[in-house]
Amino acid sequence: MSDSIFGKIIRREIPADIVFEDEQVIAFRDISPQAPVHVLFVPKRRFDTLNDVPDSEALLLGRLMLAAQAYAKTIGIADDGYRLVMNCNRNGGQTVYHLHLHLL
Ligand code: 5GP
Repeated sequence: MSDSIFGKIIRREIPADIVFEDEQVIAFRDISPQAPVHVLFVPKRRFDTLNDVPDSEALLLGRLMLAAQAYAKTIGIADDGYRLVMNCNRNGGQTVYHLHLHLL
């Protein structure tokens, strides 16, 4: 399986500002933030894009969203609000081909 920059972050081969981690998900600050809060929620198991996620991984997609929701609550932005974005493939603006959810 080919690697991605996020795989290197997951394996601690390159540094990142990690804000959350559990068995399935890691979250770290985007290197080029587009908002005062910009954190990426990434499944440790790699799927290149949302197109590659099978029905059997519905729970993993839910965990990504709920990890973002919990983090938003933890840092106190949940009530004011936030945006979750998942880009898919070139026309969707995806640049890193390891599934991830942006919290902005
Ligand atoms: P995409 O455009 O694929 O949805 O989002 C990829 C995001 O990953 C971009 O917002 C980009 O700034 C971020 N990114 C790319 N390389 C790195 C990196 O090495 N470290 C971190 N923390 N973020 C990265």
